[in-house]
Amino acid sequence: MSPKEILKVENVEKRFGGLKALNKVNLSVYENEILGLVGPNGSGKTTLINVISGIYKPDAGKIYFFGKRIDGIATYKLAHLGINRTFQIPKPFHGLTVRENVEVAALYSGKQCLKSFFKHLKNFKFMEKGYCNIEDDVQTALSIVGLDKLQDKQATQLNTSEQKLLGLARALATKPKLLLVDEIAAGLNQEETDKIAEILQSLVKKSISIIVVEHLMHFIHKITSRVVVMDSGSPIFEGTLEQAANDKRVVEVFLGG
Ligand code: ADP
Repeated sequence: MSPKEILKVENVEKRFGGLKALNKVNLSVYENEILGLVGPNGSGKTTLINVISGIYKPDAGKIYFFGKRIDGIATYKLAHLGINRTFQIPKPFHGLTVRENVEVAALYSGKQCLKSFFKHLKNFKFMEKGYCNIEDDVQTALSIVGLDKLQDKQATQLNTSEQKLLGLARALATKPKLLLVDEIAAGLNQEETDKIAEILQSLVKKSISIIVVEHLMHFIHKITSRVVVMDSGSPIFEGTLEQAANDKRVVEVFLGG
């Protein structure tokens, strides 16, 4: 049986003024896979993640998630549907603990919580515990990334690697079916990178599909079975990393001709 397609990107375009950052992008993500999105700086990888995660509306094209049209939908609605992401540079909320940071993410993006959040916003009831049961999801997310023991620490006191794990926990607390991970391994040492690779692999076993944008090829090699190579806003190759390494156009793009 062929794997189920969960995300379909069809002829998507995104312009910034005169610059076409994405040009007729077609791409699919299947159930239980980690797809690597690679390419030189400026090739459109982050813009594509931003378009899929609802930060940017595409200028043209369509995006389907489990068959439902989702292009242009707001990020919190996408989180309800099961798409969430991490950011290249984690920005935890100052003045909140690790756990509270994850709670905010779960509250804001959690499906059953959002209505409650706005309903109670006026009288500050949203501050009360128990109106919306997110604690299980928060604790599960913290334990998946291994931050459960640091949950009472101020988030800003975490080191770089822990802050990246916190970003991951925040996304996981919304129980995504598709996780978009943007350069999570950048700036981390080998041990920290290996730990994140293991966590991402464990997520696939929990039926979460992942798109990973990354420059570190050993990381991509370790966790992905399929890569899409971007150049100048368009995918130019799709296949295994080994096949990519033997593709003339890919080699030219990476080595600059
Ligand atoms: P990558 O992630 O592959 O490095 P990006 O998606 O960040 O590439 O960028 C693709 C192109 O779009 C680049 O030329 C970049 O300068 C441009 N770009 C990205 N975001 C913006 C923006 N907000 N405004 C203007 N240009 C942008």
